[in-house]
Amino acid sequence: MICTCLWRKQRKSSRFLDETIAWYERHYDLDRKPIKRVGGKGDFSIPNKYVSEGRYYVGEAGGLQDFMWGFGMRYAITSGVLAGKSILGELDYEQEVRKRLLPLVKSSATNRFLMNRMGDRGFKAVAKYWMRDQHRTGDGLRFMRLIYKPGILRRMMWPFVRLGMLRKGTTPDGRSYVRMPFRRALKRDDWEPSREAELVALEWKMKQNEGGRTSFQAGD
Ligand SMILES: Cc1cc2nc3c(=O)[nH]c(=O)nc-3n(C[C@H](O)[C@H](O)[C@H](O)COP(=O)(O)OP(=O)(O)OC[C@H]3O[C@@H](n4cnc5c(N)ncnc54)[C@H](O)[C@@H]3O)c2cc1C
Repeated sequence: MICTCLWRKQRKSSRFLDETIAWYERHYDLDRKPIKRVGGKGDFSIPNKYVSEGRYYVGEAGGLQDFMWGFGMRYAITSGVLAGKSILGELDYEQEVRKRLLPLVKSSATNRFLMNRMGDRGFKAVAKYWMRDQHRTGDGLRFMRLIYKPGILRRMMWPFVRLGMLRKGTTPDGRSYVRMPFRRALKRDDWEPSREAELVALEWKMKQNEGGRTSFQAGD
């Protein structure tokens, strides 16, 4: 499986996958057969309720994911277990999510807010420090634990993060949320595809004519 992730709104999003496949073909000896293209749109949001009208919102459906890296498997499993326990009457899902998961999600959003302000150079400096710390202590998670700790400083920053980075909205079932808006495309997102990527696109078009399916709107 070959994937590509886009972080800004893009025209003709499938050209990025064509280019990624072409890159892999240039660098590796692939025995590749196009079968299907799957994809989706990620969304970073924090709802005001995790249980509504008898529905339990777990994992990404509840906005439970890391705003920095998009990781959400642990959140999905943990919230799924908590929802199960809540249904069995062992705990209160809403309360547990707010106590155990929401502070981490907010920390991750605060880290994203800070990183957006630091720019590429700042991010590289932090990444280098993280690598050095891992080398020195033999524990790569130590630094991560430190920057994810929902301490007083991060809690004080939260109103600024909310105001500066998140936008309000309402779900079709009437729950309100704050979410991170998609960033607009940049000038540099307009480029000409490579010859190899054009061939990959052509190959996929032929596959589509034979019934190859795409599970999402490619935006073109
Ligand atoms: C390319 C990529 C790489 C990632 N890498 C990592 C990583 O390294 N580490 C990490 O922690 N996280 C990673 N993530 C994020 C992680 O995959 C998700 O956060 C996690 O899978 C969310 O789990 P979930 O159960 O909430 O949702 P999903 O895994 O999206 O599951 C939702 C399921 O519901 C189904 N569904 C949707 N609508 C309906 C419906 N109406 N009826 C029935 N079924 C429906 C969907 O088909 C899907 O199977 C990655 C995500 C992507 C896209």
